[in-house]
Amino acid sequence: MTADREKLYEGKAKILYKGPDAGTLIQYFKDDATAFNAQKKAVLDGKGALNNLISAHLFPALGALGIPHHFIERISDREQLIKQVQIVPVEVIIRNVAAGSICSRLGLTEGAPLPKTLIEFCLKDDALGDPVIAAEHIDVLGLATPFEMDEIVEMSLRINDFLSGLFMAIGVKLIDFKLEFGRLETEDGVQIVLADEISPDNCRLWDSDTDEKMDKDRFRRDLGGLVEAYSEIARRLGLSLS
Ligand code: UDP
Repeated sequence: MTADREKLYEGKAKILYKGPDAGTLIQYFKDDATAFNAQKKAVLDGKGALNNLISAHLFPALGALGIPHHFIERISDREQLIKQVQIVPVEVIIRNVAAGSICSRLGLTEGAPLPKTLIEFCLKDDALGDPVIAAEHIDVLGLATPFEMDEIVEMSLRINDFLSGLFMAIGVKLIDFKLEFGRLETEDGVQIVLADEISPDNCRLWDSDTDEKMDKDRFRRDLGGLVEAYSEIARRLGLSLS
């Protein structure tokens, strides 16, 4: 139940509540879908539970690979216990195939494979529309140190390698995705860890055989069947909502 919890922050798709212990939070997954900087909105029954399920599967798998992260455990259909971190206000976009904003921005053809993985950074600022920024902006604006960004890029590439293989094995192409990182206070100092979520809300996932979209583009592009597509991703990952 969330009624007696102290709400700390409400975002577009998730709510953060105070956790049971110091240094913990509860991340609650809403059914709300937004696109185009929240100009388009809908409530899609079951989306939050599926994103929670999928993300709660992927974070421990990345942990086993040695990627530090904020996830502790999934505690209900829509909630997970996480470690409190200070979010680095940079969205990291990892692209294997051209799709979405990069096509309109740079004139690329959707579906064209990129000759190597491309990492882009966006300033996490809804009021400004999350503009693309360079590593130099991140340094000059003091958003993260060059050392922190080296760690973030290295982790992002490892996460991409792992997730690309994981999805390939279930007949899904990982086209692109967005990651967020945070600073975690530990006994040994501050550590950069993976935060937020990894789900079809922030990945582009295409069926390997048909190129059918199995991600939030079903909502952005009015294709319908979003919850069915997310369910199919969960099913192929061997996950089910009990
Ligand atoms: N993405 C996201 N949140 C954002 C922007 C992008 O999760 O605020 C994800 C998006 O789902 C896609 C990838 O990052 O998997 C690249 O998105 P893109 O820059 O193409 O933007 P979009 O076309 O979604 O506006």
